Amino acid sequence: MKTTRFFHGTVSILENVKLARATYRLRLASAELAGLIAPGQFLMLRFPDRWDPLLGRAFAMMDTVRDETGQPHAVDIGYFVVGKMTRLLERLRPGDQLSVWGPLGKPFPRYDGVGDLVLIGGGIGHTPFLALAQRALGLVGYAGQPARRECDRVVLVYGTRTADLLAGVTDFERLGVAVHISTEDGSAGRAGRVTDVLAELPRPQRGDYWVACGPMPMLRAVAQLAQSWQVPCHVALESPMACGTGICYSCVVPTRTLEGWDYSRVCVDGPVLDVCQIVWDKI
Ligand SMILES: Cc1cc2nc3c(=O)[nH]c(=O)nc-3n(C[C@H](O)[C@H](O)[C@H](O)COP(=O)(O)OP(=O)(O)OC[C@H]3O[C@@H](n4cnc5c(N)ncnc54)[C@H](O)[C@@H]3O)c2cc1C
Repeated sequence: MKTTRFFHGTVSILENVKLARATYRLRLASAELAGLIAPGQFLMLRFPDRWDPLLGRAFAMMDTVRDETGQPHAVDIGYFVVGKMTRLLERLRPGDQLSVWGPLGKPFPRYDGVGDLVLIGGGIGHTPFLALAQRALGLVGYAGQPARRECDRVVLVYGTRTADLLAGVTDFERLGVAVHISTEDGSAGRAGRVTDVLAELPRPQRGDYWVACGPMPMLRAVAQLAQSWQVPCHVALESPMACGTGICYSCVVPTRTLEGWDYSRVCVDGPVLDVCQIVWDKI
């Protein structure tokens, strides 16, 4: 029997639900894509009936939606309205169509034997973490894999500029994830940034692991803290990209090689990379 590992087609919108200010969860009906995609992977979206925006936009898989028998039948993404594509996504209603290709990129590796898995999300950067938390806690299996617990505990450190941008916090709390919030204006949680929260949490133990996703300045700050405390740390990068399949080299980041450094493509070598791999002073 031929096995398909990639989906490209037009899908129907099931829901487009507001989670916070300018932040939505979009549900795409596709059992095929939902059965293939794993936490950390992403998909590309385009409008089937428009040339503008010409290029697709990448969105992390937030979660798959499963029926009462546990079969995945839809994929959720989360988006923040900033520009051309997301302003159009905001107008979508159930039954509207989108062109989708994926899954793309490499999933988060397994965090087997990890103590605290600390997920650090800045702004809309929390989107890949709901699925990762469920996978790591052994609550859901993705991409045909059975559910299996990986770590002792999942912690979420989630920061936004202000309280009304916080999205989907209760989804994490419901899983038993320990949630620590920061806002830059102090309107919810700790006033400050995610790195201020990290600095105040108990010092990481051997066996803990950090995973961060958010704007590049935040990732750089988290990487510096992780390296100075010698905590292993992955980042899920969201560099703008045109093709998502390794052809165009628009999403490259400088990474270390045996000879020095070279460019890695976020779309096919990532989007999840080790902070020690990235040459931060060349970004
Ligand atoms: C692997 C990966 C995963 C991603 N996951 C997510 C996700 O889960 N959720 C999510 O929301 N995004 C995600 N992104 C980002 C997403 O792909 C888009 O880049 C983002 O949604 C913006 O697209 P847009 O068309 O709305 O904005 P664009 O129109 O492309 O604009 C991009 C930025 O440029 C600014 N801009 C646009 N025009 C101008 C102008 N004339 N002058 C000044 N500034 C301007 C916009 O304000 C915006 O900040 C991901 C990206 C990658 C690579």
